[in-house]
Amino acid sequence: MPTETPPRARPHPTSSLDLPVTALPGVGEGSEKLLERLEIRTIGDLLWHLPRTYLDFSKFVPLRQLRAGKRQTVEAILGHISQRRTARGLLMTEVDLVDPADRQPSGVKATWFGRQFIKERFPEGQLVRLAGDVKWFGRSAQLSNPKIETATAEPVHTGRIVPVYRLTEGLKEGVLRRWLHTAVEGGPRRSPVVNEVAEPLPEEIRARRSLMPVQTALRQIHFPATIAENLAARRRLAFDELFVLQLALGQRRARWTKDAKALVLRVGDDELARWVTELPFTLTAGQRAALDQIRSDLGRRVPMSRLLEGDVGSGKTIVAALAARIAVASGAQAALMAPTELLAEQHYRSLSGVFGPTGPRLALLTSRVSGAARKQTIDALADGSLDVVVGTHALVEEGVAFRRLALAVVDEQHRFGVRQRAVFREKGIDPHLLLTTATPIPQTLSQTLYRDLDISELHEIPTGRHQIRTEVRAADALPKVWPWVRERVALGEQAFIVTPRIEEDPEDDIASAEATYRDLSRGELKDLRVALLHGRMPARDRDTVMIRFANGELDVLVATTVIEVGIDIPNAAVMVILGAERFGLAQLHQLRGRIGRRGQKAFAILVSEAAAGSERLAAMTEVSERTGEPLDGFELAKRDLEIRGAGEFLGKEQSGESELRIVDLADADPELIDETAVEADALLAKDPQLERPEHALLAAAVEELWRRYALA
Ligand code: ADP
Ligand code: MG
Repeated sequence: MPTETPPRARPHPTSSLDLPVTALPGVGEGSEKLLERLEIRTIGDLLWHLPRTYLDFSKFVPLRQLRAGKRQTVEAILGHISQRRTARGLLMTEVDLVDPADRQPSGVKATWFGRQFIKERFPEGQLVRLAGDVKWFGRSAQLSNPKIETATAEPVHTGRIVPVYRLTEGLKEGVLRRWLHTAVEGGPRRSPVVNEVAEPLPEEIRARRSLMPVQTALRQIHFPATIAENLAARRRLAFDELFVLQLALGQRRARWTKDAKALVLRVGDDELARWVTELPFTLTAGQRAALDQIRSDLGRRVPMSRLLEGDVGSGKTIVAALAARIAVASGAQAALMAPTELLAEQHYRSLSGVFGPTGPRLALLTSRVSGAARKQTIDALADGSLDVVVGTHALVEEGVAFRRLALAVVDEQHRFGVRQRAVFREKGIDPHLLLTTATPIPQTLSQTLYRDLDISELHEIPTGRHQIRTEVRAADALPKVWPWVRERVALGEQAFIVTPRIEEDPEDDIASAEATYRDLSRGELKDLRVALLHGRMPARDRDTVMIRFANGELDVLVATTVIEVGIDIPNAAVMVILGAERFGLAQLHQLRGRIGRRGQKAFAILVSEAAAGSERLAAMTEVSERTGEPLDGFELAKRDLEIRGAGEFLGKEQSGESELRIVDLADADPELIDETAVEADALLAKDPQLERPEHALLAAAVEELWRRYALA
């Protein structure tokens, strides 16, 4: 979005916060690379590396009351210290702990492995604080590898609520915590850098919403005095995050509405009724309602941004086709974009069927359409002699010119169109946008990130839900699964084997398509026609494999999720999903939606090491109390969100960095969402461009947000 917002100077150009992190006392040159991996480059970045969680070591437990199996913190006098080598050659330091209350041996020991410095740094007789896991050894309690500090030192690692940070290999927890302590609490001779953090929130809002100052919040989030203070700090920082998000979205909404130049598309009742009666089936109530909503959106100057959600088979295509027809009836063009070429071809065929010979003039444009045919289509789109084009995203995004593009349908869109809108805006066209997806958008996201996206839902499956028998199995069941796959193939069925990875990684044993294909085609499935399919193969090879599979020239396809939104293979009735715990529930649901398409009996076997204890995977076989049927895509997505959080909805490329720091958009506090929306709207009413000096920090934060999310 940088094209629309002028660059601004950094908010605090002379602040230590902008200095390289190595400028902080204690952070050596060698640490730079490690910190870089955590996206920490400046002291400011370090300060915003917030704790992942906390350990409550704030209550000292008397030594003789330690409980095994818990993490606890104690005060103790170091008694006899001994060191020896274990059978495996590891240095072990063992200390008898003396109870400071009566100066008598407590019977409790502390042990460390490989920490030479303990003996050097902490002499016998010293009063220390220790915090860590307590175990039973024989009849006495033992603190194993505890954190240790002298009792006179300021509590950093023990004796308080201790922050726990996300680390990277080679970076020690205690070291990072020490640096943050320096940043937040300062050192003997310097004031803490946290004091340089400027307050971004207007005083008025802080007072109205009872929010603590930002510096206090940062202090309390890193080194909380009490849990209550920490919660208040989280609320404060969460407010900031949501507030900035709401400002950004508010500005975008205003911009898009203000210069909206979408074509107004209308169709008469009679004509629409005629199209609908010409269909080979009756629309479901959901399809009807969605169509009415779309029709009303298309009649406005503000471009439609609507998401059509519906489980696999709920009939989204026909709704999209009718929307395209409305565009064409108004003298404009429509484009339908699919995620794969094969799917584009499938859509092309179904649209041809729906439109018939007298309907809109339709063409297919994929990379497989070439030469004269391609040129003809491109020319026809430019001169307006074609009405509707079906292709992949890429084709429409990369400079095919339209005479009057009024509607773009993006099929199976999981990022919900933010990017598409940006792409079209950059090209100076402003089409109505209809997005379809089988992955429902979580409610808190629809109230924040996608506040300007309207939603239509299809809940019925017109052709009836086909029953797919789903079972969850541990990997040790595989020796029985493969012969069973062979039996099914002998009965004339085809099978998918899905893996979470393409390539194998020696570091772990996550199933990969390549290794699975290699092993099975040489081993258990040697006598079958097995092929490999994954996203890193050239599109053309991928299509060839899919077509051979569709034509029944292959028995088994070992694939990654590229088949998720793939084509219909009516004969496929078996799916084995390896490493099933690595997939989202909605994704597993979509995957298994690929089999049993003819209504035949179909089987999905979810293989997972976590088979027995997985609440998530169990949801795949659960029957809804409401409907008496297996959970549908909506219910599964909701369940997944409850269990796993919103990360995956924010898009893969940005995962990690993309998530907001504090707020989990999957279950953000609805009250906070409301409050921030109200405050953001009020602020933008007074200062729409955030130009006032007192809003400079907010403006910078909004800009930063755009950069991080590429929301545009
Ligand atoms: P999806 O929502 O998964 O994209 P499709 O649009 O591909 O679903 O539709 C699935 C199948 O259901 C198609 O064969 C389509 O022709 C058929 N279909 C769509 N709507 C209806 C309906 N109202 N009644 C009967 N069949 C329908
Ligand atoms: Mg579809």
